[in-house]
Amino acid sequence: MERKNAWLNYDEKQLEAVEATAAAYRAFLDHGKTERECVREAVAMVREAGYKSLREAIRQGEPLKPGDKLYDTQMQKALLLFHIGETPLEEGMNILGAHIDSPRIDIKQNPLYENTDFAYADTHYYGGIKKYQWVARPLALHGVVAKKDGTVLNVVIGEDENDPVVGISDLLIHLSQEQMTKKASEVITGEGLDIILAGKPLKGEEKDAVKAQLVKLLKEKYGIEEEDFLSAEIEAVPADKARDFGLDRSMILGYGHDDRVCAYAELQAMLSLPAVPKYTACCILTDKEEIGSVGATGMEAKFFENAVYELIALCGGNAALGVRRALANSRMLSCDVSAGFDPMFAEAFEKKNAAMLGRGVCYNKFTGSRGKSGSNDANAEFIGRVRACMDDAQVAWQTAELGRVDLGGGGTIAYICALYGMEVIDSGVAVLNMHAPQEIISKADLYEAIRAYTAFAVNMGPRSDEI
Ligand SMILES: [Zn+2]
Repeated sequence: MERKNAWLNYDEKQLEAVEATAAAYRAFLDHGKTERECVREAVAMVREAGYKSLREAIRQGEPLKPGDKLYDTQMQKALLLFHIGETPLEEGMNILGAHIDSPRIDIKQNPLYENTDFAYADTHYYGGIKKYQWVARPLALHGVVAKKDGTVLNVVIGEDENDPVVGISDLLIHLSQEQMTKKASEVITGEGLDIILAGKPLKGEEKDAVKAQLVKLLKEKYGIEEEDFLSAEIEAVPADKARDFGLDRSMILGYGHDDRVCAYAELQAMLSLPAVPKYTACCILTDKEEIGSVGATGMEAKFFENAVYELIALCGGNAALGVRRALANSRMLSCDVSAGFDPMFAEAFEKKNAAMLGRGVCYNKFTGSRGKSGSNDANAEFIGRVRACMDDAQVAWQTAELGRVDLGGGGTIAYICALYGMEVIDSGVAVLNMHAPQEIISKADLYEAIRAYTAFAVNMGPRSDEI
């Protein structure tokens, strides 16, 4: 059953809207290359739209009322939004959840060393990457340095046109006879992903003079001591800006579509809700999905549940029972990207059940690997209601699987939220070269994702599955 290409549906006005959306999204990507930057960007956007701090509301003890809009952050790396609806929270929320961490190269805690007139940063990659894709390309350094006195320096080097960039070298082809016979997983090793930071020695210094020059520069220009790396989080990310892709400009090439394209679509959906939605709408932008949703800022942590406790308390509800009911009765789109069908690698897909770029937002009933291992297998009844919701709003959408059975696999945050008993399905944008430094999406799919998430947040309601 083929789905129509979404581009065929658009009139002039919609084409303009698709372009405007794409331009705003490209700017979001350029300003949000780390989870922390995405949180900051998002908080600025929602504050402007009237969102207030949940923590401030807790301090004030203000009772909440329908129409109130609240945000909460977790260690500046994860974000929650709530737009209180007219129906009691116990009847469940319409939840949109995405992640804002992306694969990258992290700088180690003790990174600096010199080798043969180069000063390097030792690294440890984050998330699933093909290591050979990250060499011989411009990288920028983003992150924070937490000093012992409690101050936190923000680091962004390599984004301004006048900034220097850094990077990882590759072996010249002329001497690559041995390298070219290696397996792709061994061509570049994890410990071989060290970043060249400098190449000029400090005059008068006998030993490690290039490193000495670099340490001096870090101190003078950025206020960073070598020891400060112990309490720093610095991520090397592609220095490139997001660009229109294709001569027809139908696509966007950029770093971190996974999963910032869904995060951005969620934010836009939240900002286009009616003043008082029927059900409370919630947006989750979580961290650490790429390494298993672990830690205090990943979906397995309790920050989301804790925030729901606070909301119930501020709404005057019965704490424990109210929270359980609110969560169990919720409906959720786990908004994460899908593997776009790539004709150059057609054998990796089963075409009838693959996500096609340009054919609208994708719904994955399940993800996982092998026999659906590790997946949230969404309920058929829920999918039936989602289908109706999408068709009523005339959203272009498609269904998809991650790829050919038994070829690999992957997961999302869906199964974690499903543990509360809520209905969850994966829904996202199809991506080409996922997890590469530059990924590709269709502008039409971004546009349809925003329309889909808005329709879901506005129109979904509770299930009736009693026997
Ligand atoms: Zn991913």
